Amino acid sequence: MTLSTAYSIDLNKDINAEDADIAFQKKEISSQKDFRCPNEKCRIAVTCANLEKPKVARKVDPYFRSVEDHSENCPFAVEEARDIKPETSDSYYDGVDTTKGNTLINLAPPPPKPQDSESTDVKPSKKPSPQSSSKRKDSEHNNDRTKRISSLVTSFLNGENFDVTLPHPYAEDISLQDLFIEINGQDISDLDQDTLRIYYGEAWINTVYNGYQIRFGNDFLDASQSDKELRKQPTLYIHRDKIKDAPYKKYREIRNLIGPKKKDVFILSHAPALSADGKYINFTFTGFQYLEVIA
Ligand SMILES: [Zn+2]
Repeated sequence: MTLSTAYSIDLNKDINAEDADIAFQKKEISSQKDFRCPNEKCRIAVTCANLEKPKVARKVDPYFRSVEDHSENCPFAVEEARDIKPETSDSYYDGVDTTKGNTLINLAPPPPKPQDSESTDVKPSKKPSPQSSSKRKDSEHNNDRTKRISSLVTSFLNGENFDVTLPHPYAEDISLQDLFIEINGQDISDLDQDTLRIYYGEAWINTVYNGYQIRFGNDFLDASQSDKELRKQPTLYIHRDKIKDAPYKKYREIRNLIGPKKKDVFILSHAPALSADGKYINFTFTGFQYLEVIA
């Protein structure tokens, strides 16, 4: 889920995160946001997570992650996707203290959609549970403490509160009510960086080139360019290929969600960032397990 190198705008060359750290300490790099994809034909915005955090406060060393989708055919999209795949909900918590009894977030990709399940080599599942009903909600993890986003959203809307531990590499303990951030005009640099929150608000779902766009009704502010304040309704782009393979029917049938009526949308994400062209404030789409849409 990381890029091994990124293009530094300040240094005008590709560097790795270790060198970025050294250059930042020497003040040769001014912000963790001043990076782009190393591919000249792509150059999307890249952030060096944790770079601005004091060393003692870092849970992991600085690393690069893109904050918008790579251009089509960019080889770095492949590089960045390479090491994503922990298979089970537990593997997202490797090395994280889960003994405190806090709720954990199930980010394992949901099982493949039903019509795919004939393919024989999908997974060597160890224990096919005999009486598991196919109607059972998302085949929730056995452990009651491990919840999918949809279930956290329900608890949040019911006004419940309990402590949640975020997965690796964040490993942050946070109360459910603090985990949810309503999109409401905040300056994006005031949002908690380099960690996950569930951002939410009413949003439209639209058709755009090669896919779909979720556009929130309320805006965010980017005041990082000193010459002007930029207010944008944050967006999330989902390529149509992802829709085709979506694990949930409501997203495969996303067309039903399109229209002038806003939906309640919740997205587990890093703080959104300004796109390289300065036109959008984007959330990056990681997977449907990070998203909840209530029609
Ligand atoms: Zn790229």
